[in-house]
Amino acid sequence: MEKQKLKINGARLKRTLEQFADFGRTENNGVTRLSLSEEDRLVRDYFCSCCEEIGMMVTIDDLGNIYATLKGEENKKPIILGSHLDSVKKGGRFDGVLGVVAGLEVVRTLVENNIKPTHPIMIVNFTNEEGARFEPSMMSSGVLCGKFDKSVMFQKQDVDGISFGEALKYSGYAGDEEYRLKEGEAFVELHIEQGPILEKENLSIGVVECVVGMVCYEIEVTGDSDHAGTTPMNMRKDALQAAISAISKVCDKLDKLDSELVYTFGRMNVFPNIHTVIPNKVIFSLEARHKNPEVVKQVETIIHSMKDDSIHSNCSVDIRKLWDRETVWFDQNVVNSIEQSVESLGYSYKRMVSGAGHDAQFIASYIPTAMVFVPSINGKSHSEDELTTWEDCTNGVNVLLETVVSMLKTLSSK
Ligand SMILES: [Zn+2]
Repeated sequence: MEKQKLKINGARLKRTLEQFADFGRTENNGVTRLSLSEEDRLVRDYFCSCCEEIGMMVTIDDLGNIYATLKGEENKKPIILGSHLDSVKKGGRFDGVLGVVAGLEVVRTLVENNIKPTHPIMIVNFTNEEGARFEPSMMSSGVLCGKFDKSVMFQKQDVDGISFGEALKYSGYAGDEEYRLKEGEAFVELHIEQGPILEKENLSIGVVECVVGMVCYEIEVTGDSDHAGTTPMNMRKDALQAAISAISKVCDKLDKLDSELVYTFGRMNVFPNIHTVIPNKVIFSLEARHKNPEVVKQVETIIHSMKDDSIHSNCSVDIRKLWDRETVWFDQNVVNSIEQSVESLGYSYKRMVSGAGHDAQFIASYIPTAMVFVPSINGKSHSEDELTTWEDCTNGVNVLLETVVSMLKTLSSK
């Protein structure tokens, strides 16, 4: 019979998550811990002390990313766990922090069982994942992978005019470039799903295969402003009516495209926005996400069809692509390794995609990477109502531990 599997301490995990939530806890049991704020500085201090207490070595790079390493044999690349400790304003107690505390719990379990890994185990806390104080989000992992320019990022300002560079210096977490994350055997990020799928399908674990690609467009409809009382309906060039008609046609087409496609008209500005004046201009955004680039291409064709469709009352339509992002596929070996771990633990699961962005998508460009999701109750996230059951948190961290243990086994048998 197979020997009893190593499991993490669920009670300790819960206690630690609650301790971390004390840094910036809100009245309604959420968390406000903006990147490099006082709360963030204090939670970083606490995280470092927890890691040092169990014999890990802590280093800080020039972006304020924290790396805590449990030593392995010389010249071996680390297995990396982690996520981010910053939150949005009035966010939840699980987003990001779960992945960091999970790393801590995995290492605590290894240490108390006297397991000396062949490969170093590293926990990383990425600075400013949320982009809630300094845009863009995933700032530091973006610099690490070469997507963002450091000097540009350091000048990004918060609403008070404080730059990222200044805030980093003030926090005391401006370290050295030589400590940047350069290599690893694997990076595994445990995160809450932030959507309703796992809960709805009554599953414990999501094995994440990719972060879906997306496109974002801005559409401008131009008509003519006239008096709302004196202009007959058939003599108007109403930009808003035209926009509504165009949107409804686009929705009909997009809904037929693919059941996994998601799209959003998140922003709409109406001009001049006065109830007695016929709108002469409407500007709105349309973003769409899907893992398959072919589907995304079809979406773009449909968006462009807005121009040709005979839309309401001879208004003109201008379509601008703001930006796009390709689907990031995670490493098949890491995905398989996670899946096998979930199966060996007997948890229910499915392979799924991430509709949201994560640091893992940038790190994936130079280290074999994948993610593990645990259910979000009612799909809520970036909100004080964010909730994942302690049992689901525990299961997720057990998957992480089992994945690390099995990776160590595989690596040492090579
Ligand atoms: Zn997050």
